[in-house]
Amino acid sequence: MVVGELSTEVDVAVIGSGPGGYVAALRCAQLGLETVLIEKSSYLGGVCTNDGCIPSKALIHAANIAFDSTHSEKMGISSKTRIDIKKMQKWKEDVVSGLRNGIASLCKSYGVEVVSGEASFRSSELIVVETGHGTAYYRFKNAIIATGSNPSSLKGLEFDHKRIIDSSDALALNEIPKRFIVVGAGYIGIEMATLYAKLGSDVTIIYRGERILKNLEPELGMAVQKRFDALGIKLLLNSNVTDWDVKGKSAFASVKSEGASKKTQKIPFDKLLVAVGHEPTTKGFGLEKTKVELDEKGFIKVDLERRTQDPKIFAVGDVAGAPMLAHKAFREGKVAAEVIAGKKSAFDNVAIPLVVFSDPELASTGMGEEEAKLKGYKVKASRFLLSASGRAKTMDAAGGGFVKLVSDADSGILLGAHIASPNASELISELSLAIEMGAQMEDVAATVHPHPTLSESVMESADVGLDKCVHLMKKSSL
Ligand code: FAD
Repeated sequence: MVVGELSTEVDVAVIGSGPGGYVAALRCAQLGLETVLIEKSSYLGGVCTNDGCIPSKALIHAANIAFDSTHSEKMGISSKTRIDIKKMQKWKEDVVSGLRNGIASLCKSYGVEVVSGEASFRSSELIVVETGHGTAYYRFKNAIIATGSNPSSLKGLEFDHKRIIDSSDALALNEIPKRFIVVGAGYIGIEMATLYAKLGSDVTIIYRGERILKNLEPELGMAVQKRFDALGIKLLLNSNVTDWDVKGKSAFASVKSEGASKKTQKIPFDKLLVAVGHEPTTKGFGLEKTKVELDEKGFIKVDLERRTQDPKIFAVGDVAGAPMLAHKAFREGKVAAEVIAGKKSAFDNVAIPLVVFSDPELASTGMGEEEAKLKGYKVKASRFLLSASGRAKTMDAAGGGFVKLVSDADSGILLGAHIASPNASELISELSLAIEMGAQMEDVAATVHPHPTLSESVMESADVGLDKCVHLMKKSSL
């Protein structure tokens, strides 16, 4: 690096060390570019590692073990399970810190310079970083913005981080709340509701819309909703929290429900999680001093190379648009780095999976049935029920699950896949690959899948679509 009078010259300055930023920085360095990775938080890894994907999945895994251990009587297993939430949190923290340290080690091994401090643009070529020890200036040939997103708040339910909490707070509780309200029914709200229900909380989900997980195929949301009774989760749709107050030691949410169950009620709670979406982090770091532009939803406008309106500046991850998911950020980070290094690369993926670690687990990739119809395809939807899967039966998971494939009836090309099943998160990648490669239903159906596995249901669903499934009764399909 060349240190000028005031600034250090670098090939690439990356702002933010979440999945988008750290992967972009590593790939830049791997391609021989001098790279700095600037992070304002004391931890590397962004939301995903510290407050999102990793801690949530660690706790969900632990909660699943606890729940299953007390719900397997018919298999001859009965036990009295004691949950030590503090110990669970400590285990989760160990998982998180191990991965966080791993990112630091990767940066070291590839020669990425990690700078601790808050970055802001002075111009389209200069970034200033307020470190704990002073101010540093970086003159860059290219910059990558990976500043992520922050939880949206609701008027009247502003976070006090004690009773009204965000997802980071919910993942750090050292006491299992007796009464837990979740406002919102997107994937984060549903995952948190399921987690705490399985740890023993009395959970109520309050959602203003008509159906949960509205960005997914309706059947997926229904598969999860059908389990709510068994998990003890109450669901109030078409409902809003209008106010909340504290009487004595208890807090109460005033909830107004519209539609068939029109009423107003007060619901007591210990913790109320607001999980109503995330806003891209675009303010407070000098974007106005560059030519970077925002779109109508507030995301940074980028092209397929993830280049902004300012030719030297790229943006990746949550700040660069939906879906706000870590694996989308990983891919975009690699694309931006490769473009900067002069390689031909583009974020032109057609199948970006979404996974919900609910009960049952859900996964979706490519187009939904309605979306495909709107795009003009003659759609064929096929569904194989897990009730006909040998493996699902051996796992006591045959009820309610399915694999649904959406294909083009004319060409047989696979357009989308939607799964409700244990390990749906692992099953979906085969179908993303198939979609990316333009595979036909016949390709999926003719691929030999191991027996007995849940993955056979993917093949069977393709057989259903081709009207040749032998593991469903004659004429059964959708
Ligand atoms: P982030 O991870 O948000 O990182 C941005 C980083 O930039 C932060 O570290 C921030 O401190 C830093 N920063 C911001 N401004 C500056 C500045 N001016 N100077 C220096 N540093 C700055 N996604 C999945 O794919 N799977 C999941 O299972 C999943 N589960 C989730 C569960 C929860 C509870 C939450 C909240 C999110 C979850 N996500 C999941 C979403 C995922 O975490 C995000 O999509 C992902 O973290 C986005 O990565 P990013 O790199 O864009 O930004």
